[in-house]
Amino acid sequence: MSADLDPRWDWVEITTVGYGTEYLRGACRHLTPTEVRSTVTDELLAYLCPDCDAQLPA
Ligand SMILES: [Zn+2]
Repeated sequence: MSADLDPRWDWVEITTVGYGTEYLRGACRHLTPTEVRSTVTDELLAYLCPDCDAQLPA
């Protein structure tokens, strides 16, 4: 896999006739999730991935 691909995502290598090898952006790896805490109890509720806006379980 090429080193200049964004490490935040999985990449799917495809080979296209006439264009050679390309990479399609696959699933997000959720490398930098931010904490979502209750404003009342400060309890950790979940994580939010800023790259794909997915909410992840705490
Ligand atoms: Zn993500």
